[in-house]
Amino acid sequence: MTAATSAAEPRDLLVIGGGPAGAAAAIRAARGGARVTVFEKGAPGRDKICGDGLTPRAIKALNELGVDLADAHRIDGLRMIANRTVRQLNWPGIAPFPAHGAVWPRRRLDTALVELAAAAGAEILWEHEAMPLLDDDRVVGVEAGGRRWTAPFTVVATGAPGPVTRALGAERDPNEPFGLAIRTYAETPRHAERFLEACLTLRDENGTPVPGYGWMFPAGDGTVNIGVGALSTMKGFKKLNLNKLQDSYRALVRDDWDLGPDLERPRAWRLPMSVTRRHGPGWVVVGDAAGLVNPMNGEGIDYGLESGMLAADLFLADPATAAYRYDVQIGERFDAFLRTGRRFSFLIGHPLILRTGLRFAVGTEGIANVTLQVMGNLVDSSTPGAGGLTMRAADKLLGVADPLLRRTRAAA
Ligand SMILES: Cc1cc2nc3c(=O)[nH]c(=O)nc-3n(C[C@H](O)[C@H](O)[C@H](O)COP(=O)(O)OP(=O)(O)OC[C@H]3O[C@@H](n4cnc5c(N)ncnc54)[C@H](O)[C@@H]3O)c2cc1C
Repeated sequence: MTAATSAAEPRDLLVIGGGPAGAAAAIRAARGGARVTVFEKGAPGRDKICGDGLTPRAIKALNELGVDLADAHRIDGLRMIANRTVRQLNWPGIAPFPAHGAVWPRRRLDTALVELAAAAGAEILWEHEAMPLLDDDRVVGVEAGGRRWTAPFTVVATGAPGPVTRALGAERDPNEPFGLAIRTYAETPRHAERFLEACLTLRDENGTPVPGYGWMFPAGDGTVNIGVGALSTMKGFKKLNLNKLQDSYRALVRDDWDLGPDLERPRAWRLPMSVTRRHGPGWVVVGDAAGLVNPMNGEGIDYGLESGMLAADLFLADPATAAYRYDVQIGERFDAFLRTGRRFSFLIGHPLILRTGLRFAVGTEGIANVTLQVMGNLVDSSTPGAGGLTMRAADKLLGVADPLLRRTRAAA
């Protein structure tokens, strides 16, 4: 062991990853008085491939963190397009969620969050790629760039699965779906519009309906975030060419949006939707590292913020029980919804069901509103009204149909 690695630096809480999930954990823990160090392998101002869309659920989480939203572009609702049907819907404003969302390019959102963590007293170490230090199966600290830090608790917020989650045995469940998505930015005179736009009827180059959607998310800064995403449950997913899908979607919307050229090369990334393990002695995974992405809309920023905050709060309450209690409470908050979402993704992996289901989902304004509430996780099975009723029915029906849906899943 070198002299540099022998002197471990003690902290209360270590956070690996400076995205929304890691920053949220750091803000909360530092505000609670903990000595926190965040390790981020990227440089200051790093970008994350994302649609930059924030649902009302995400706005609520940002409000809880006290984030100033002045720099974000306010969004009032969603325009769903399915073939010739267009439904423009306002966010429902169902308590406790506000009636607005936002688009906030990730370079700026993530910078704002990390700056808040630093202002709360967290130490931010950029360009530090970290690995957990293990003592048997307990994480006792972190190693990065030949230095070591120790702490009773480490929050792993490293995004889609990689070396850190692999070392901890927190991997994607191979039997569960995941998503892939690609995006770029382009200039448009419609950049200041206050509606997200989602085209639900994408087809790949062979004409196969794609379970997923194409999006136009106006950023209010002269540009729109344009992208497409697909679920792994579709037939031919392994051969799906996301660049071609993006090109054909761009061609579809180019005239309506008077799009300028792409401002950067379209880039793709993964959307993890499951994990085999969420905690162990001295550690938890949060955000994408915990597979916390909504299979019904690809949203992950909110789940990152919520899980990061919860991990920090439980650590502040009692470091000894935090990991176990985190697993239980995340399960209570999200497992049923995300399980229904994953079952739903097997359902819409069947082209016929996808086509029929879409016609139904946007068939009337009332049903489209319920679709919006359910897809945005703005209701749960205890919510009164049509949204809650739909969730309860979907929980039950998809639960019964699940084995059949998986058995008959479209071969990749
Ligand atoms: C194309 C696309 C579009 C999307 N659109 C949306 C959307 O519109 N709205 C939405 O809510 N979600 C969207 N998502 C999902 C969203 O981007 C993620 O869910 C979200 O970024 C998760 O946040 P996170 O903090 O868990 O992980 P990340 O944002 O991925 O942050 C992880 C951080 O950890 C760092 N890191 C990794 N390993 C190490 C290491 N060993 N040491 C130090 N640092 C490390 C990385 O550099 C990174 O900065 C989209 C995803 C994709 C791919």
